[in-house]
Formats: sequence, structure tokens, C-alpha cells
Amino acid sequence: MTRPAFIRPREGLAAIIDGKAAAAAIDARVAQGAQALAGQLGRKPCLAVVLVGDDPASDVYVRNKVRRTEAAGMTSLEHRRPASLSEADLIALVKTLNADDGVDGILVQMPLPAHIDARRVVEAIDPAKDVDGLTAASAGRLVLGAPGLRPCTPTGCVWLARQALGDLSGLNAVVIGRSILVGKPAALLLLEQNCTVTLAHSRTRDLAGLCRSADILVAAAGRAEMVRGDWIKPGACVLDVGINRGETGLIGDVAFEEASRHAGFITPVPGGIGPMTIAMLLVNTLDAAAARRDLARPDILSG
Ligand code: NDP
Repeated sequence: MTRPAFIRPREGLAAIIDGKAAAAAIDARVAQGAQALAGQLGRKPCLAVVLVGDDPASDVYVRNKVRRTEAAGMTSLEHRRPASLSEADLIALVKTLNADDGVDGILVQMPLPAHIDARRVVEAIDPAKDVDGLTAASAGRLVLGAPGLRPCTPTGCVWLARQALGDLSGLNAVVIGRSILVGKPAALLLLEQNCTVTLAHSRTRDLAGLCRSADILVAAAGRAEMVRGDWIKPGACVLDVGINRGETGLIGDVAFEEASRHAGFITPVPGGIGPMTIAMLLVNTLDAAAARRDLARPDILSG
């Protein structure tokens, strides 16, 4: 099969899946789709981002989201609130955004301050605008295989796996981590692709042995370099979701150099899954804008 240019072969080592370049390609398609959709809507598609408090990492994420939303020709609304904001006031803000016909997508940046129940806030988001795919309605649609907005990070993982391997039918996939944000939806999305999926977690026995059976390995445990080279099945596609802060910068859940000697394809950290997450957020915003008006969803991810 012919692979896209963002998958870079290396002599004797796993090909690098360059998530930054892949995300740039998707952003460009989103920009085309946004322009076409703006003609039909009479305005640009619009994403509202809510940031509570002053967590520095969240601030960087939000700034990146705003920058890329605007670069893709969509409107970005930023709502910054102090860490002292009450849960009731945050939910009231979400409801205002739900009722605003000019807003297509709503994202509440996590984590929220400890006095706020994140689940109650997420559930206040209109599922039609749930571009993070985290409401119970969105999760239920994913389980049902019904159309809906899917969580961004695992959608990016599965899209990259398809670019690397083509048809995923019948492949063994192991997902490490069972969070609502990454692990569980990744498992369901891989199942949708007809993979045979094992969902591993902190109580899994013989994780290394299990990983050795994986044609596709998604590592989302948040444990720096936990996945070693000899855990990797020769030729496997390794998708490293983990973001761990080390002394030298960001480190993934996979020991990259070791794993590169066994895998067929691997995503680096940084520059792998991270940029793809925002690309999928933009795709979801476009989808939500179209679906709310019963317009055809721009087909960004096929091919
Ligand atoms: P959570 O902490 O919510 O979940 C971690 C999961 O990993 C849990 O299910 C836990 O198991 C499992 N786990 C922890 N330790 C081990 C272990 N030693 N062996 C096997 N399983 C283990 O994290 P998230 O899912 O939110 O995030 C995971 C990682 O991905 C983090 O590093 C996060 O920063 C990163 N991330 C990256 C994104 C990106 O855009 N690249 C986006 C979102 C997250 P148990 O359930 O049994 O406790």
C-alpha cells in the first residue's frame, strides 16, 4: 500500500508516524471544509473554549486550540474564568453556550478545580455541541455504533493506525489504560474497525506478554517509558498517547528508542498523538456545525 508522506520509513527501525505533519494535513482539509460550510451557514463554524483557573499546561493547550481553530478559518470564543468560579456559575455558562445558536462546539478544558464536579459540568453540555465526545450521550452513541461526536485523542489514534496499516480487520489490538477520555473509547473505536481488542489496566496480569500479541498497541497509562522494546511484537503499530513530564521534557509511555527496534510504526512524544488530538477537535467542530443544521458532514477523514 502507498502510505502518506507523514509516515517516514527509517532503515532498520520503525517508521515514524509524524503526528504534527498528519495534523497539519487534516487542519488543511478542515480549513477547506470550514470555508464550504461557512457559505451554507452564513457564518464561520464556531468553537467555544472554557478555561477555569490558571493551570499553565491547560493555558498552553487552550492557546494552541484557539490558534489552530482560527487558522482553520473557524471562529474561536474563549471564556476564561478564575479558579474561584462556582460549579453553578460554570454550568450556567455552559447552558448559555448551549442556547447560543452561533456556537457549534463547546469544550470545557480539564482538569477543573477540585471543588467542581467535572462530570456534572460535562453532562450540562448539549450533546449536539459535545466536540470532546465526553457526555454520556456521546459515549452511549459510540457503544451503540450510532453516529455521534467521538473523543478526539482515540479517534486520532485509530486514524493514524489506518494510515499505517490500512484495513485493521482481524488485527489484535491492546489498549493500555481504561479511562473515559482515552482507553475505553480507543477500545470501542478499534472494535468498530473489526480489531480483536484487549483493554489492559493496572490490574492486568503479564502486561508485557499481552502486549507481545498486539499488532496495534495503544499506550495510555501515563507511566513514563513503561512499555519496553521487548514488549513489542515485530512490525507492530505503536501509538504512544502518554504525556509525562521528565527532566528533559515530555516523555511518552513507550521507551521510544528500544521500541523502534521492534515496531513497524511508532508515534514519537512529543509530535505524535498530541497534535492529532486538536486536529480531531477541529473535525468534530465542523461535524457538529453541519449536523446541527442537518447539512452533510464534510468528509475529512476518509482516504
Ligand atoms: P488516567 O490516569 O485517567 O488513566 C490511566 C489508565 O492507565 C488507568 O486506566 C490505569 O489503570 C492505567 N494504568 C496506570 N498504570 C498502569 C500500569 N502500570 N499498567 C497498566 N495500566 C496502568 O489517564 P488518561 O487516560 O486521562 O491519560 C493517559 C495518558 O495519556 C496520560 O499520560 C495523559 O497525559 C495522556 N493524554 C494525552 C493526550 C494527548 O493528546 N496526547 C490526551 C489525553 C491524555 P486503572 O484504571 O486500573 O487505574
